[in-house]
Amino acid sequence: MLSYRTRQVVFYALLIAVLPVAYLLVPSAVHERAPELADFAMLASAVLALSYTLFCLHKPGYDRRYLVCLGLGLGCWIAGMTYAVARSGTDENLISTYVLFVSYGAPLLYAAVTTPDEPSSHGRRAVDGVLLILLVVLCYLGVRDLTDANGFLKPEDMAWVVVAFDIENIFLFGTFLVRYLTATDERDHRFFGIGTVFLLLYAICVGIHNHDEIYPDTLSLQRLADILPTVPFMALLCLLHANETPKAFEPIRHRWARQLSVSLAPGMLLAAIFALSLGITERQGMFGRSVLAMAMLAYVVRVTQTQFWFARTRDRLAEALSTVERVSLLDELTGIPNRRAFDQTLEERTKEAAREGRPLSVLMIDIDHFKTFNDTLGHPEGDVALRSVARLLAGALRRPADFIARYGGEEFVVILPGTELEGAQVVARRMNRAVYDAQLEHSNGIDRRVTVSIGVATRSPDHVQGVVMHADRALYSAKHAGRNRFVAATTD
Ligand code: GH3
Ligand code: MG
Ligand code: MG
Repeated sequence: MLSYRTRQVVFYALLIAVLPVAYLLVPSAVHERAPELADFAMLASAVLALSYTLFCLHKPGYDRRYLVCLGLGLGCWIAGMTYAVARSGTDENLISTYVLFVSYGAPLLYAAVTTPDEPSSHGRRAVDGVLLILLVVLCYLGVRDLTDANGFLKPEDMAWVVVAFDIENIFLFGTFLVRYLTATDERDHRFFGIGTVFLLLYAICVGIHNHDEIYPDTLSLQRLADILPTVPFMALLCLLHANETPKAFEPIRHRWARQLSVSLAPGMLLAAIFALSLGITERQGMFGRSVLAMAMLAYVVRVTQTQFWFARTRDRLAEALSTVERVSLLDELTGIPNRRAFDQTLEERTKEAAREGRPLSVLMIDIDHFKTFNDTLGHPEGDVALRSVARLLAGALRRPADFIARYGGEEFVVILPGTELEGAQVVARRMNRAVYDAQLEHSNGIDRRVTVSIGVATRSPDHVQGVVMHADRALYSAKHAGRNRFVAATTD
């Protein structure tokens, strides 16, 4: 018994093959009586693909905006084909057919240039819409120039038009392939994957079909070439059916590739304008040049929108980054600088002291009997006291260059650049006094209040390293000496 997957693949293969096989099996006599048979088959396959695309709009797995673009593209193609079938054999103007065939690419290009990295604002969508309309007008002007008075393509230009179609198809395939390879979103990845396969098959099958029309070969090959364009449409239907549920997806690891694809997106529009501008000749006069100028202008607006968005995003990111940096250097509980900020500042001040030949003082401060404070009043009260002590200690600093940080737990550290031992002792005395005088209640503390012990160290410019260690040792001396005091380390 075949697995479900195998049965599915076999069913898809049959679905894709049924129209070409049926067409090839039809006897020659019937072909002669109904030369548009292949056109009807193509039309039927495109209508089936369009119907299924519209049906998928209700499925949650697909991004509806992309499906609408695909549906519009298929709609243009079907309109072109219907027009061609209806007018075949008559002397009527065929320009519209060609324009419709070419403009099937416009909505697909619209899908490819819409990247998630840019804002999907109404303004930008409107500019893209205007650009695509102008592209279709440029294309109309180019095609009109190639037709004779009755609107038929001149035989000598037929080969040129076929090549132009090939270029358009390969260009569209390329834009979808880039979007598929660099997608960051699972939905994008899936849609552009389906689109890439469809456009590749379309480029190959329609390419063979068109080239065969100008260079007819043997009859059997010609018949196959006639019916080949049904393949991409039936394949599209099968691809949409097979990929309707999201799959595990890993975005491309090369970041530059993704960035390049985003940067290329608006450039694709310029490439299209450039390619179509080749069709603008003297004969179109002022009108042709005006349309070209308007397309360029719309492109300038489009690029300005994108650049503006990037500039604004960059500024917002810079602001956010500086906020993050600022916050990352502050202690959450007390609001004063944290250990990280202290390490950075100490390194800078140490170098500065050695460079400028000035002394550097450091105070290590530790709250006395803080463990019992927490044990009796609880940690929330302990936190309140920590905040109060931080505020009192910071308030005891006078010079702008003086720096205080929370070293950890209930310990604080102060850097006093360019300060001699006497000066550092003045600051330490002021700090002891400030905390003592605040009379923060502590039943087991010295004089039933919160107090601090301070170790003071001053190092000369030649021996600045190790200043923190000296202050720490002095702090232990202050603890042993009875707390609520400062002790200065002996100078080097
Ligand atoms: P000493 O006078 O010898 O410094 O005694 P001590 O109890 O202050 O010393 P010890 O280092 O043994 O205790 C430090 C205590 O500080 C431990 C903990 O209860 C308290 N502590 C540390 N960080 C915090 C904090 O963020 N919040 C609160 N509420 N308490 C803290
Ligand atoms: Mg401690
Ligand atoms: Mg302590």
